[in-house]
Order: sequence, then structure tokens, then C-alpha cells
Amino acid sequence: MAEAENFIQDIIDADLAAGKVAAIQTRFPPEPNGYLHIGHAKSMFVNFGTALKYNGKCNLFFDDTNPSKEKTEYVDAIRRDIAWLGYRWENEVYASDFFDKIYAYAEQLITAGKAFVCDLSAEEIREARGTLTEPGKESPYRTRTPEENLKLFREMKAGKYADGEKCLRAKIDMASPNINLRDPVIYRILRATHHRTGDTWCIYPMYDYAHPICDFLQGVTHSLCTLEFEDHRPLYDWVGIELGFAPKPRQIEFARLNLTNLVMSKRYLKKLVEEGSVHGWDDPRMPTLAGLRNRGIPAEAIKDFCSRIGVAKAQSECEISYFEAVVREYLNLHAPRAMAVLEPLKLTITNYEGSEEVDFEINQLSEGAGTRKITFGKTLYIEKGDFSLNPPPKYHRLKLGAYARLKNAYIVRADEAVTDENGEVIEVKCTYFPESHSGSDKSGIKAKGVLHWVNAETCIDAELRQYDHLLRNADYAGQDFSERINLDSEHIFQAKAEPYLAQAPEGTAFQLMRTGYYKTCKEGGMSVLSEIVSLKDNFNK
Ligand code: ATP
Ligand code: MG
Repeated sequence: MAEAENFIQDIIDADLAAGKVAAIQTRFPPEPNGYLHIGHAKSMFVNFGTALKYNGKCNLFFDDTNPSKEKTEYVDAIRRDIAWLGYRWENEVYASDFFDKIYAYAEQLITAGKAFVCDLSAEEIREARGTLTEPGKESPYRTRTPEENLKLFREMKAGKYADGEKCLRAKIDMASPNINLRDPVIYRILRATHHRTGDTWCIYPMYDYAHPICDFLQGVTHSLCTLEFEDHRPLYDWVGIELGFAPKPRQIEFARLNLTNLVMSKRYLKKLVEEGSVHGWDDPRMPTLAGLRNRGIPAEAIKDFCSRIGVAKAQSECEISYFEAVVREYLNLHAPRAMAVLEPLKLTITNYEGSEEVDFEINQLSEGAGTRKITFGKTLYIEKGDFSLNPPPKYHRLKLGAYARLKNAYIVRADEAVTDENGEVIEVKCTYFPESHSGSDKSGIKAKGVLHWVNAETCIDAELRQYDHLLRNADYAGQDFSERINLDSEHIFQAKAEPYLAQAPEGTAFQLMRTGYYKTCKEGGMSVLSEIVSLKDNFNK
């Protein structure tokens, strides 16, 4: 057996050694009430990853016990996102597949005197629950006989009572220090059309009760979930023990992934979508897997990130810049290089005529990537910010009388700046030095700056989109998401780009030299370059 990589594997190794389990099975349990986000990628990494490690199985388990919030649209999106990350589930299972059995188990608990029908309202139950320091009060309905409870529960199922009029509660301990054990509600009456069972049911099991049953019925040996379920584990165990599950699935909790500058709550993400603050669930600024995919983040980089942050028991917050660094590292190795200018400034080479092909390295870090030809010419575009009439000290880009190299081509000297009526530079006239060609420079001229450029004759127009984080730093304006949300986080430039970028298959990730990593796509016939991640760490920009 390979060495354990985290505390979960330590526990599993011990269970295997003790003969408690033979084969390992896990499940990834999303609730289909929204799109998956990067936090779920960590949960998948843990659940699918653990199964893989032990040659076990991992099911896709849809926790659909809350019919008012669940939709088939979400089920489809979740499936697509898991497949995109490259995980394969053994079986696709729904809590609703087990509604009959979950119901039968409830009758079993009632018969054993372990559950009772309660007439208190949700409000009254809450009031009687007690606090961390005070025990709760027992319900006056707690002493109903199993026969009476069974009759009432069947009537609940048959639709005799209104929503909320009665519920089924486990009979555990109103004085337990763990509030989850104070006779928790395990079934409620709710008339809502379920996305799979329609109107068959008007009672639905509560998550804490249904989950251990579904785990057991699927053959899950280790139920891996996040730390907020730690306090629910005693109830998870209670259900398994009372119903005599053998082998009883074992719940193990790990820390959630929290990332700075990202909202990671489905509820809040849904609000952003519904209020139109973003373009949709797959907006490139969204931390949803659909958003990250649309952004152009490679699935491999997400998995690599999950593997590097590890699985721990202690809660922590990860810097978004670390995630970005992992993405950048991947793209640096894999993305072909190309050139585009965000804010084009015309550059004319007065002593150059015609055009020529120059070699351009596709990716110097990727062995065998080779070179391609790009067309150099008399009229080019460079970045507006790469020329200055009033340069600050140590300005190594282009300024009047100074030299700079045009990437993979020649050294030029800026001779004259043409300005418009507002004094804005609209064109730079240059001299080039024929001896200075990259790779065979015999000019003896020193040029510190290397500028990217595109050929004005052959370039294409492209809409270039840059993104800021959707959430400003926590110190910006309090901790509340709504105060930190940055609605002005999409910036659009009318860029000029190499024609090569329009020929690439849609969705290809490029490193735009000196600019960043960008994905190509077409929108209504228009070429779009959409930022995946900046070239340098711009976390504090
Ligand atoms: P949210 O709070 O964003 O709505 P959730 O926990 O309600 O998330 P589920 O669909 O219930 O979403 O999550 C499926 C699984 O993914 C659960 O086991 C949950 O613990 C896990 N999960 C959710 N968010 C994270 C996260 N940030 N890090 C790790 N695991 C997560
Ligand atoms: Mg949940």
C-alpha cells in the first residue's frame, strides 16, 4: 500500500488493517441547488482521489432532499463540471432513489420507540431546543406510543396534514450537550414538486437523517465531508447504530477550501447571477467550475492546486494569488506565445519598405514546440505605454532619441512623435537598423527594452477583456460580501492582435507576450481575447 498522504488516509489505513472494511467506497455529494465552485473541486479531489488511491469506487450522489431549491439544470451542470475535471463516478445516485427505503427506516425507528410525531411548530421546536448552556425542553408529544406515532406518520405521508402541522422527530436526548441530538426533526411535511419524484411525496426526510442511510445503501465506507458537519457526526452515528447498519459508514471531516477574494457560497453566487451583477453562472469572474472553465483555467491546474494545498483538519484561508500562481505555472509550460497590443500606438519605420517573415518561438519552455513565422513591416502597432514623451528615470522602453528592440525583429530608434490636437501621441516615427536583427545582431547598438508589436497591415481587431477579482480585499470595506463586491471588474480594450490568434481553435490559451495569459474565442464573428491570468502577480495591484 502506498504511503498515506493525509490524515484521512491514515484513518482508512487503520480501518483496513483492523479488518473493519475490505474495499473503499466514497461519494461526492452535491446538492443540485446551484453550480459547483472551486471549493467543490477540493471535495472532489478528496472523494474521488481517496477512492482512486485505494482502487475503490466513488459515486456521484445527488443530495436532493430539499425539493424547493433543486433543479435538473443544476444536475446537468454538475455532471458536466465533474466530467470536465476528469473524474469518473461509479454510479449516479440520488437521495430520492431511496425515498421509499428512507421512509421504511423511519417506520422502523417509530416501532422501536426511537422516533415520534410532534405537533409543535418549527418555531416552538426552536424555542424548546435550549442553548449551549441550557438543556432543551421535552416535547409534550414525546410520550406518544409507537402505534399512535405510526398511524400519525402514515397520515402525514397520505397528505392528511398541512405543511408544518406535524413532523417526525428522533427521540434522543433533550439534555445532550450536542444540540443536534436534541430530538432532531427527521421528516417534515412539505408540498413541493420534486425535480425527480414530482408530487409523489408530501413529506421529505431531513438531510442529517437521510445522509447516513443513503451512504449505507450505496455501500459507502467512508463519508468524507467538510468540518461544519463535525457536530452532526453524533447524529450520523446514532442513525447508523439504531438502524443496525453493518458495516456502518464512517464520517470523516476535513477543512473547507476558502480563498481570499472569492465568494464561495452557492447562495451568494446565485444572488449575483439573479441580480445580473455578472453575466451568468459561467461568467469568467465567477469561482464556479463553469466560470473557471469559461475563463480558460485548465482543469489540470485546478487539480494540481487541490493536490498542493493538501487535506487538513484545520480551517484556513488560501490566498487567491497562490491559485493564480499554480495556473500561471501550468500555462507558462503549455501555452503558445503570441503578440497583441491592448492600447495600440502606430509605429512607422521611415527607412523600411516592404515586409519580411521573422521567426517567432512558439514556447521556449515546451520542447519541440518550434517556431513560426510572423510578418514584420513598415507600419506596426506597439503598446501606448511603451512610448513616453516624458519618461521617468530608468525608462527602458521607447523615448525620443532612444533605442528599443521590437521582439524577434530589429532595433529601432524613435525620431519623432506625432501628436493630435490634445497633445496625445498618435504615431511614433522610427529608424530601424538592418544589422540588428534578433539572433544575428551585428549592429553594436545597446537596446535594453524589448517591445511586443503587431503588424498594422496584417493584424486583426480583437476585443480584449481583463478582469479584477470579483471580491475586493477583506480590508477594503468590511467583511460583508455585498460591501466588497467589485462590479467594475471587467475591463474592455479594443486591441490589435496577430492574425494567428484568430486562426487558433476557440478556447486556446496563449501567453500574450508582456501582457498575460489569454483565451481566444469568437463572439458574433468578433475575435475576443479574454484574460485567464495576468503574467505577473497582480494580487495587490
Ligand atoms: P455552499 O455552502 O457553497 O452552498 P454546500 O456545502 O452547500 O456549498 P454541497 O452541494 O452540499 O454544497 O456540497 C457538496 C460537497 O462539497 C459537500 O460535501 C461539501 O462539504 C463540499 N464542499 C462545499 N464547499 C466546499 C469547500 N469550499 N471546500 C471543500 N469542500 C466543499
Ligand atoms: Mg450542503
